[in-house]
Amino acid sequence: MPRPKTVRLDPFTYKVTFVTILPEAVGHSATDVGEIQVSESQTEENQRSTLVHEILHAIIGQGLREFLREPDPKFEEQIVALLEPRLFGLIRDNPKLIDYLQEK
Ligand SMILES: [Zn+2]
Repeated sequence: MPRPKTVRLDPFTYKVTFVTILPEAVGHSATDVGEIQVSESQTEENQRSTLVHEILHAIIGQGLREFLREPDPKFEEQIVALLEPRLFGLIRDNPKLIDYLQEK
């Protein structure tokens, strides 16, 4: 399966790049420049998981961050860490749901 080059999170489109090395992380969501980076220094499954993780950061960056009472990066990390495996599992394990949701 080819890797995505972009992720659409209406109204924005983020460029997705898979990079060899990321300092002190396996992913990075640079939403200010519209880019999500995923480190290739992990398994394919973990790269997919990291991409979902960084997409959640991008979603939070689209205004939700401003509503967090404590703009503590650790709190955001906890939210993302809680949601990511569940969202990833939802998408991965429910292809009929995804087909249904993709109907326009
Ligand atoms: Zn994170």
